[in-house]
Amino acid sequence: MNKGGVFLSEECDVIVLGTGVAGLTAALAAGYSGSSVRIYEKSSLIGGTSAMSGGIIWMPNNHLQEFAGVDDSREKALAYLESLSLGQIDSDMAAAFVDKGPEMLEWIEKVTPCSFHVISNYPDYHPEHPGGLPEGGRSLDNALFALPELGEWATKIRNHERGNPVMLTETPLGGATVTPDRSVLGERTKKGQIGMGLALVAGLLSGLLDMGIEPQTESQASQLINSSEGITGVTIIQEGKAVDVKARKGVIIATGGFEWNNELVRTFLRGPMTAPAGSPENTGDGLHMAMEVGAKLGNMRNAWWVPVVRVPGEELFGHPSVRLILLERTRPHSFMVNKYGKRFTNEAGNYNAMGGAFHAFNPQKFEYPNEPCWLIFDHRHKLDYEVAGCRAGEQIPEWMYSDNSIEGLALQIGVEEVALRETLNRFNKHAEEGNDPDFHRGESAYDTFNGDQSIEGIRATLQPLDTAPFYAVRIESGSLGTNGGPKTDVSGRVLSLAGGVISGLYAAGNAMAAPTGMVYGGAGGTIGPAMTFGYIAGMTAASQ
Ligand SMILES: Cc1cc2nc3c(=O)[nH]c(=O)nc-3n(C[C@H](O)[C@H](O)[C@H](O)COP(=O)(O)OP(=O)(O)OC[C@H]3O[C@@H](n4cnc5c(N)ncnc54)[C@H](O)[C@@H]3O)c2cc1C
Repeated sequence: MNKGGVFLSEECDVIVLGTGVAGLTAALAAGYSGSSVRIYEKSSLIGGTSAMSGGIIWMPNNHLQEFAGVDDSREKALAYLESLSLGQIDSDMAAAFVDKGPEMLEWIEKVTPCSFHVISNYPDYHPEHPGGLPEGGRSLDNALFALPELGEWATKIRNHERGNPVMLTETPLGGATVTPDRSVLGERTKKGQIGMGLALVAGLLSGLLDMGIEPQTESQASQLINSSEGITGVTIIQEGKAVDVKARKGVIIATGGFEWNNELVRTFLRGPMTAPAGSPENTGDGLHMAMEVGAKLGNMRNAWWVPVVRVPGEELFGHPSVRLILLERTRPHSFMVNKYGKRFTNEAGNYNAMGGAFHAFNPQKFEYPNEPCWLIFDHRHKLDYEVAGCRAGEQIPEWMYSDNSIEGLALQIGVEEVALRETLNRFNKHAEEGNDPDFHRGESAYDTFNGDQSIEGIRATLQPLDTAPFYAVRIESGSLGTNGGPKTDVSGRVLSLAGGVISGLYAAGNAMAAPTGMVYGGAGGTIGPAMTFGYIAGMTAASQ
């Protein structure tokens, strides 16, 4: 027994910790293999960050590509990941993802109501790299799910009340220029249909309930039970009491990242991350538990980075919330500058790689000059596009700065006036010529996909800021979740500092050292590997 906890009379084969996509997939896999499974969730709600997400899955060489006419292969996928590795990807782990992922996806479609489709033309995030797909084919959206089908469980999913009756494919992020008709949306709302991450979590949960496995909420795992045979159970805190639960075959940590734990963020991440965007329960509990039993750690410096805006007063689940800045910096008549009024990156590049630009360090000044930074746009942009939830043409909120001159705007945001004017003049001159010699914005297929899809070519992202008034919004370096943690082998078994594996311990999702290192291969690049390693860990644990 562990620290005075009380053993439940029932034991089970496999214990899963966390109910995001990694945990749900792990529980499905273990249950499908005939094991008895318990799945515990710290929060009162199921789904973690996964339920708040777009639900896109990046899956190279998947079975749906055949119908979509996509030319992909295992070799291409591995070459692509290798070209982005920077020595940080374990090639066996990358191969395990590429090999097992498609099998997992087909299986999920069989054992749950989830069904997926290729998002047309959604390019990989570095499509011009070897093995990259500029025409897309690896990013998958999931079908709508009717929440009422879950009965009483429908209201137990995080974010269920915010459910949007659209698939990502039908939004500008999925490449749509026209959103579904009001009458279509009305019909869907009547049926309780929802899309994106919520639909994915609901579909996985539905499959799990069909297997007779019910997640236990408000059940926080606090410690692994470690004996001479390895990990044999977990201490769970329920209603303030510690309960020891025994696992005959194994424990799978799928507790998400540590982005909401300031101490762990300061200790491990390679640069500033001031604005976590996901579920506030992700405080690194799985990491603590794994460290306590001597797990080897990996990828600790990294996270899935994303630029965000913090809207004063906005809260989500009792914590300050942020809005992701994805399309705003990519659409025409906008650029980003640092505190010196200088552009510092291709604004239309992918959000995860942009973390590198936020973490650029000036050793002389001993500072991170690009964090925080400013998104600058003109009135044409304001009239045509939504910015951080402020709709096109709407009156501007208090947190958005505006001035009739670029110098006046510079004064308001504390940026040197001459520098901002010079940046604007240079950007405009080149944008009019249709190029960006400084940061090559618009040259990648990815840049224009997220630009204004109604405009052809480079002008979808690159056009001058020439119409007053001018506007500014403060941008911070945020994260969708951290992706370092216990290192595993290709079977999802946690490696030990002492050598070999820690018997009975598995990890999946953002709780593990990501199998793709610091690489976000394309849209869905976190959920694809998370579900795959959930599947691998669940199957391996069940087979013990
Ligand atoms: C707005 C937004 C949009 C996104 N869109 C996408 C997208 O479209 N595609 C993509 O690939 N990625 C996307 N991401 C990132 C993606 O959502 C996450 O990387 C992924 O969902 C992580 O899955 P997970 O299962 O590892 O963790 P989570 O989904 O966060 O689940 C972890 C669960 O563990 C629980 N938990 C924590 N500690 C304990 C404990 N001690 N005991 C028991 N339970 C515990 C948590 O409460 C949580 O429910 C997005 C993120 C955000 C914020």
